[in-house]
Amino acid sequence: PFYAEYIRERIRTVPDWPQPGIMFRDITPLLQDKKTFRVLVDVFVHRYMDQKLDYVAGVDARGFILGAVVAYELNLGFIPVRKKGKLPFDTVAEEYELEYGSATVEIHTDACTAGDRILLIDDLVATGGTMLAAAKLLDRIGAKVVETAAIVDLPELGGSKLIREQGIPLFTVCDFE
Ligand code: 5GP
Repeated sequence: PFYAEYIRERIRTVPDWPQPGIMFRDITPLLQDKKTFRVLVDVFVHRYMDQKLDYVAGVDARGFILGAVVAYELNLGFIPVRKKGKLPFDTVAEEYELEYGSATVEIHTDACTAGDRILLIDDLVATGGTMLAAAKLLDRIGAKVVETAAIVDLPELGGSKLIREQGIPLFTVCDFE
């Protein structure tokens, strides 16, 4: 689509960050530019405006930026999926594997009601571990993840394929090899 390249051009690649050999895709220039930020938000708002959603959930921390704005524009509430130890009330947790070690995401048990239709947003899909763990949390509290969505897919890392193979729809705006 016409907007994908427009958005992609505003993502900066930072080599060797946070570790040697990693090409980090930095979305801050995309957020910084008022026109691309608006185009980005509008792509999501138009895609989901007629989906009868109940909430938008966003993944800590970059998924909060787009997720909260999309929720506001769709006139929906926002659910934070947080890293371990940040949420004060009763939580459920999912641990997932990273290249070295593991990470844990959590959600409040009362974040939504069973059967609620949720859009789950993060900034980027790499191995898919984060998005799948977040989707599993929502599933465990009885929510229906209508779609998962991110700005960037790194298809070579296989995460987007893995997510779709689990029967979870995934929308991404652009790819980086
Ligand atoms: P995954 O769990 O799919 O391997 O990694 C995706 C998660 O790590 C996302 O929450 C994302 O914010 C973060 N991440 C990993 N690599 C990058 C990157 O190159 N750029 C950005 N912006 N986030 C990344």
